[in-house]
Amino acid sequence: MTDGWKTRTKLVHDGIRRSQYGEMAEAIFLTQGFAYPTAEAAEARFVKAGEDEFIYARYGNPTTRMFEERIASLEGTEDAFATASGMAAVSGALTSMLRAGDHVVSSRALFGSCLYILEEVLTRFGVRVTFVDGADLDQWRAAVTPGTKAVFFESMSNPTLELVDIRSVSAIAHAAGALVIVDNVFATPVFSRAVEQGADVIVYSTTKHVDGQGRALGGVICGTRDFIRKTVEPYMKHTGGSMSPFTAWLHLNGMATLDLRCRAMADSAARIASALEGHSALSRVIYPGLSSHPQHQLAMSQMGSGGTLVSFDIASGKEAAFRFMNALKIAKISNNLGDAKTIATHPTTTTHQRLSQEQKDALGITPGLIRLSVGLEDADDLIADLMQALAASAG
Ligand SMILES: *Cc1c(COP(=O)(O)O)cnc(C)c1O
Repeated sequence: MTDGWKTRTKLVHDGIRRSQYGEMAEAIFLTQGFAYPTAEAAEARFVKAGEDEFIYARYGNPTTRMFEERIASLEGTEDAFATASGMAAVSGALTSMLRAGDHVVSSRALFGSCLYILEEVLTRFGVRVTFVDGADLDQWRAAVTPGTKAVFFESMSNPTLELVDIRSVSAIAHAAGALVIVDNVFATPVFSRAVEQGADVIVYSTTKHVDGQGRALGGVICGTRDFIRKTVEPYMKHTGGSMSPFTAWLHLNGMATLDLRCRAMADSAARIASALEGHSALSRVIYPGLSSHPQHQLAMSQMGSGGTLVSFDIASGKEAAFRFMNALKIAKISNNLGDAKTIATHPTTTTHQRLSQEQKDALGITPGLIRLSVGLEDADDLIADLMQALAASAG
């Protein structure tokens, strides 16, 4: 690892392992296994594998290892374990460390599958879970007790872009001896400072900004070497959620431009949010980079950016929101995020369809709400597209 390099340099060079050929580009080792020169060498490797020694791709692979080292360096953690998807990372980070009787405190505003893991899976195995309103520190203080093993939250929530104060929640958790596990997808690894703010374990769906082009499912768990190699790795390598070397190779390529892409997307998102704010068809525009966002100061101190997503509410409801979506010429109707292509999502009928009306009300998921993942197109073109679609939404 290369302490002292800045983000963009790390993203191009860190973690690289060259074979005897000295190839410039990261090599893709599409191999499930590795041949040992002798039976003695095989025995020795199963006792303890060295830095450049691999056994089976479910345990580790040279291309996957390059990706793990690059993202750990970027995030500022000692190590990382790459997983088959973001959900393999979330479920692996939690399940590998918890046992029956343990207590977890989690924010309520979660990605649907994260909610399923906490609400349906962990509880089935005797883990007690308490949900809190992530932005309300008093609720965290009341819920975290000396018996709490871990706290879990998304640092910026989907789709209403509410922040959790990583520094304050980490202080509350650490005072009780609990581990802080942060799903940091919306913050992106570029704008993340979660480690210096107190987080112990950071998980990403690398399907999002890291891949950046909507090609591959992937995830990663970042943490201390002890946590990754002694808690996460044994669990992941035996339960099967490891990343494919092909995905790791796509991600390594994506990372060279990750910083540039996230900053360009965030710049466009800020311009779009300003252009939309006050539009007569909208009842609200949610963007943490706008001074009207209730947590604007926290967003600036926590991420130094408003991020790459903008949400807004079409005042007259679902039919108008559908007319808006159907009129878009550049932005695509889909449900990924962090893609080079701008994506419009209607959460209440898609990603959050299964929530009860009560849960939707609690999370502010209204019939007119649109989540926009801002891509790499020209910002003026995107603003023109949004404006003509808003005009069309009037019907
Ligand atoms: C997408 C996402 C996940 C799940 O990631 P997959 O790669 O789809 O498995 C988890 N958390 C958040 C916040 C996400 O946006």
